[in-house]
Amino acid sequence: MKILNNIETTKQEVEIIKKNNQTIALVPTMGYLHEGHKSLIKEAKKIGDIVVISIFVNPLQFGENEDLDKYPKDFERDKNIAFELGVDYIFYPEEEEMYNNFKTFVEVRDLSQKMCGKTRPIHFTGVATVVLKLFNIIKPDYAVFGMKDAQQVRIIEKMVYDLNIDVEIIRGEIIRESDGLAYSSRNKYLSQNERKDAIALKEGLNYGKSLIQNGEKDVEKIKKSIIDFILEKFSIKSIDYISIVNFETLEEEDFVYTEVLLAGAIYIGTTRLIDNLLIKI
Ligand code: AMP
Repeated sequence: MKILNNIETTKQEVEIIKKNNQTIALVPTMGYLHEGHKSLIKEAKKIGDIVVISIFVNPLQFGENEDLDKYPKDFERDKNIAFELGVDYIFYPEEEEMYNNFKTFVEVRDLSQKMCGKTRPIHFTGVATVVLKLFNIIKPDYAVFGMKDAQQVRIIEKMVYDLNIDVEIIRGEIIRESDGLAYSSRNKYLSQNERKDAIALKEGLNYGKSLIQNGEKDVEKIKKSIIDFILEKFSIKSIDYISIVNFETLEEEDFVYTEVLLAGAIYIGTTRLIDNLLIKI
């Protein structure tokens, strides 16, 4: 396994891989690897000849009062995990290598302003920009993204479509702990007490799913029931949003019909957690 810190060296390695007619599967991450990341890497191993993961805590996607400075890091541990899973390359650049006098941004309009984009207005522009940069440096045939960040998946898919990028986006399923909490690097911020309430969102979304399965179609009613459920059962003080949207457009419609995404974000103390369920009716 090789560690690449430099963009030019990475491009040279990529050129050799391409000359050998090998395909590349990329898994972009911010590191502090957990079971969710591992599952994406295993998926990448199945589809690509060469697996590249990137580890880069992308400052462009953090708002001013967000957790950029305290985002958890453990490169030695990540390196061992990647090695054990058979990763071929880790692209691990410094910030200055990626953003040297940087002035260009990629904005996927509409999709980026909804849901998480309301509280995090610059977030998805930061994500789209770094992902396009990674695609240009690593030239992957496949890129695997977790459905844990469902809005991100749609935004990247739209960018790839709109800008005619030659990469196939693979959606990786959400990996959860035994009580249903989705793995996230940010779970590290939770105290023992907070951890107990962290499943509130998942439980609320499950409750919404059961209402839909029992025939409820009214989006506003389902959303209100989910919010009431969470506030009654858990000591949650702040729900950022609950949305029920068409997964293609991320638009909220009045009634649920075929494929809907139930998604939300809640604060557990100061930690913001997101989750979602994709439901086919
Ligand atoms: P991050 O390091 O948080 O930026 O995430 C890197 C990739 O891992 C993204 O595509 C995430 O959607 C994905 N991911 C994070 N948590 C999970 C999870 N619990 N299950 C599946 N994929 C995940």
